[in-house]
Amino acid sequence: MTRAHHTTTATRTYIERLRQKGHRITPQREMILEALLASSAHITAEEILAAVQTHTQAINIATVYRTIDLLFKEGIITRVDLGGERIAYTTVRHGTHVHLVCRRCGRVIEADHAVLGMLGVQVRQRYGFAVDLEHIALFGLCRDCQQTGEQLAD
Ligand SMILES: [Zn+2]
Ligand SMILES: [Zn+2]
Repeated sequence: MTRAHHTTTATRTYIERLRQKGHRITPQREMILEALLASSAHITAEEILAAVQTHTQAINIATVYRTIDLLFKEGIITRVDLGGERIAYTTVRHGTHVHLVCRRCGRVIEADHAVLGMLGVQVRQRYGFAVDLEHIALFGLCRDCQQTGEQLAD
């Protein structure tokens, strides 16, 4: 299914913010932003590329990565490393949450941000550092893998 190229209000808001900061806005950058906003939650660089390619072939993965980098630095998107080369991006509109990633089976549990408790406050108090906790991944072992862990031969 091919979707007609259409600029949404949210995209225009972010484009305007980028413009005000003096960034050059290309149609490709706009389409990358739209792909990010259109995804229900997380999207990978390859998925962004595929989405933009439904509109134009004048795009490559390097352009996607450069734009992602810009959007990340400008605080428009967040990224999370889910292990196994799975890097997922989402716009800040998606809201705060934590991913619990099982390092053995790869299962990902989306957890409430409240589990982080006072972490942000304590890091700021002790180190004067404002840590980005809106979107993070914590690695460990899921309940199933903890139970089977001791019986594994390898
Ligand atoms: Zn597991
Ligand atoms: Zn996430």
